[in-house]
Amino acid sequence: METINVTLPDGSVRPFPRGITLDAIARSVDAGLAREAIAALVDGVAKDIYLPLNKDAAVSFITPESAQALEIYRHTTSHLLANAVKDLFPEVKIGIGPATEEGFFYDFERATPFTPEDLARIEARMREIKAKDHPIRRIEQPKRQALAYFEKLGDNLKVELVAEKGGDVVSCYRQDEFMDFCTGPHLPSTGRIGAFRLLSVAGAYWKGSEKNQQLQRIYGTAFPREEQLARHLEMLEEAKKRDHRKLGPALDLFTVEETAGPGLIFWHPHGTIVRQVMEDYWKDQHRRHGYQLVTTPHIARDELWRLSGHLDYYKENMYTFEIEEAGYVIKPMNCPGHSLIFKSRLRSYRELPIRYAELGTVYRYERSGVLHGMMRVRGFTQDDAHIYCTRDQILDEILGVLDLVLEFLKTFGYERYEVDLSARDPAHPEKYAGDAAGWEMAEGALVRALEARSLHYTRREGEAVFYGPKIDVRMFDAIGRPWQGPTVQFDFNLPQRLGIHYVASDSSQVPVVMVHRAIYGSLERFMGGLVEHYAGAFPLWLAPVQAVVLPITDRAKEYARQVRTELFAAGLRCESDDRNEKIGAKIRDAQLKKIPFMLVVGDREAQARTVSVRSRREGDLGPAPLAAIRDRMLTMQAERAVGP
Ligand SMILES: [Zn+2]
Ligand SMILES: [Zn+2]
Repeated sequence: METINVTLPDGSVRPFPRGITLDAIARSVDAGLAREAIAALVDGVAKDIYLPLNKDAAVSFITPESAQALEIYRHTTSHLLANAVKDLFPEVKIGIGPATEEGFFYDFERATPFTPEDLARIEARMREIKAKDHPIRRIEQPKRQALAYFEKLGDNLKVELVAEKGGDVVSCYRQDEFMDFCTGPHLPSTGRIGAFRLLSVAGAYWKGSEKNQQLQRIYGTAFPREEQLARHLEMLEEAKKRDHRKLGPALDLFTVEETAGPGLIFWHPHGTIVRQVMEDYWKDQHRRHGYQLVTTPHIARDELWRLSGHLDYYKENMYTFEIEEAGYVIKPMNCPGHSLIFKSRLRSYRELPIRYAELGTVYRYERSGVLHGMMRVRGFTQDDAHIYCTRDQILDEILGVLDLVLEFLKTFGYERYEVDLSARDPAHPEKYAGDAAGWEMAEGALVRALEARSLHYTRREGEAVFYGPKIDVRMFDAIGRPWQGPTVQFDFNLPQRLGIHYVASDSSQVPVVMVHRAIYGSLERFMGGLVEHYAGAFPLWLAPVQAVVLPITDRAKEYARQVRTELFAAGLRCESDDRNEKIGAKIRDAQLKKIPFMLVVGDREAQARTVSVRSRREGDLGPAPLAAIRDRMLTMQAERAVGP
């Protein structure tokens, strides 16, 4: 009997007969594990659990708790969806069905739109197929044969995919009568599929191109266990309530105006107050951390963008136009502008580091299909800064940036975050700009700085862009969703292209080390995130209106005005609601506007120079002297308190 040597999860090496199935190996390790395992990792590659193993390999097992499990559950559920759709609507053509961060989808070509009733029927059919517990099996066959199969069914989208992507032998997966072209892996049977729910249907273009036919994309989500699904659905409900695209206009913070075009944000007065508070805090912090604020023009000759390289590799995202026969570009980035300021005269090593910061508004073309509220827009203001320093200064500079990042995360109430370090692929040094020593120093500095601040991070080998290593921070909001956060990015390309040098102590010209970094990313995106993080109820220091005075009677209106004037003079943002409405209605209204404090005043309060305080979170707090609530609010504002 021929044997193969298998390295097991505990590190031991054991001989097995060649061709033994992966589930048989699992059984020989532990019967419990074999029942749990949904797939195996063979030398790190996920494989179907029923497949035979024919060579020496390291084998471990994927169980419902493994990091890789979710994708397999979701992807297998997408096949279940396609199977159900084909059963109920045999004329429908099937496209692709991947797992996603949030669940899965499958694209279908069908003349009539799927209705919510259709979705309910499809989901019911999915449950029937799951209950039958059909084995799901991988079938490898000649390409010809697979093409003939999908041609016979009239599944022209699949025919196109097999023709394009299939090798001589293509893999398909069959469950009962339904077969799909796929590389796998999948759960071993439909009965192993976990908890799932179909969520919505939306239009999508075949292969993501507007030139192709429109398909219908059915979205769903799936988890190994029911309680995980229930938790996720709860989160989705909560997310819907927090959606900044709804809350933004409802709270009169911002709108997108179709007359002006998509992806352009109009900040209303209340939104602009939040923005100004963010800007002021940002400017203040940056001055304290040794940054110099600069201002650069919104347009520049295309010559600059040719030198910087953007015209070569970024042209399709840039808005260009002509003036007096010269080409111009509306800036998509601030870096070339800052670099021109640096280069405006000779710089000595004694001047370094130089840190230029700008709230720089940029415009980038994005396809209309990908625009999303304030998250994906065509015009936005980056909180951009560029650090120009020597190699010796790298570590201190990165530490300084991290400290600033941590300060901001804390201030805005993002308690949980994850850090990624994107490093170069050591096997392909030729893919990268700059020299190996520079990269080593830069990556080393990022690592040392992260460690010095006790920040856990995931190292992503080979994920750096060609011009330098970087750190990305993902912030998690109040309901556990990740948001793109601060970035720190080395650049070994631009200094070379633009010739950004400094004069060293030996009078030689040395290229500077350049670091791009942003904390908000863009004011638009960060604001959209804040609206959802706080569900529109901004902490007092950010709230557009911090207190509203609510007179109970006409007689109290004069005192209400005095209260308002006094708080206003103290530097607080205060309004009064003088409408002839019942006090209950005024309170409800202020509550809907998520104003932190409501100050109710009547004859008694006017006489005693007090106010009856209501907090949006804690309700009635009883009467208080005006000076006391004023001071409390001033303290909360000064401390940038995140609480109620
Ligand atoms: Zn598949
Ligand atoms: Zn930059």
